[in-house]
Amino acid sequence: MVLADLGRKINSAFTELTKAPVIDEKVLDSLVKEICAALLSSDVNVRLVQRLRANIKKNVNLEELANGANKRRMIEKAVMDELCNLVDPEAEPYKPVKRRANIFMMVGLQGAGKTTTCTKIAAFYQRKGWKVALVCADTFRAGAFDQLKQNATKAKIPYYGSYTETDPVVIALEGVEKFKAEKFEIIIVDTSGRHKQEVELFEEMKQISSAVKPDTTIFVMDGTIGQAAEGQAKAFKEAADFGSIIMTKMDGHAKGGGAISAVAATHSPIIFIGTGEHLQDMERFEPKSFIRKVLG
Ligand code: GDP
Repeated sequence: MVLADLGRKINSAFTELTKAPVIDEKVLDSLVKEICAALLSSDVNVRLVQRLRANIKKNVNLEELANGANKRRMIEKAVMDELCNLVDPEAEPYKPVKRRANIFMMVGLQGAGKTTTCTKIAAFYQRKGWKVALVCADTFRAGAFDQLKQNATKAKIPYYGSYTETDPVVIALEGVEKFKAEKFEIIIVDTSGRHKQEVELFEEMKQISSAVKPDTTIFVMDGTIGQAAEGQAKAFKEAADFGSIIMTKMDGHAKGGGAISAVAATHSPIIFIGTGEHLQDMERFEPKSFIRKVLG
């Protein structure tokens, strides 16, 4: 079920609540059941859904309020709070510091949208007045450097990469040193992806990380992968200890449940969502407004 459908389902459950002449445990149960079913079919992890169900039941005390309107409000608030909790790990993402080099290292599987996202966040910070540069340490995928070069040129962002050097650690370090010396404030390092979570990929990530010592590592994840999200996010968290997540492809058939499960599995905040292939197709992620948007 895509995000818009999830929103429609939850809203229709709320409408049922408005129509019910008397709000009792039975009405509450059927509302919670409908919401849980909608979340499950959006690929939200089953344990999270069970916790949400238990919390709503715990936080809504129908005995306390006699008045129907108040009961409705209390139920709606409890549901909203729990939906927000699902996407809010209450962990602060890294905040770059002005007038010094802030190194961002991007990790993720091939095809997740890493290279595209690198330029998107570079352009985002550049618009805000930061001095930003890009380093392409993806030597695995043929054409990765050309792609980054093209994107960077379009966005007028300085970049570094090599057609001849095959060691991504060397490129990453050279690029970071160069831009540090030139007083760049945000240096974004794009790393290789693989199709699978392979040992080699994780080893390479660790080597690049210990060479460039990133201030923050950002995990780029395909928002359309559904139930696979939890395992993938956990594996990358263990190998790369990322500080935050960017969910891509949230414009298409993203179910959203993957995003929710990734946050919960790693206690890491989503900072942006990708909403298309173009440079400007990226939005800041904020749990409350995300949930409000899902609900229309
Ligand atoms: P990488 O292998 O992780 O570096 O992935 P790329 O940056 O090359 O992206 C893979 C494909 O996903 C490309 O065709 C991108 O245009 C596309 N893509 C990346 N982000 C988004 C997004 O937010 N929405 C959509 N619809 N497509 C995206």
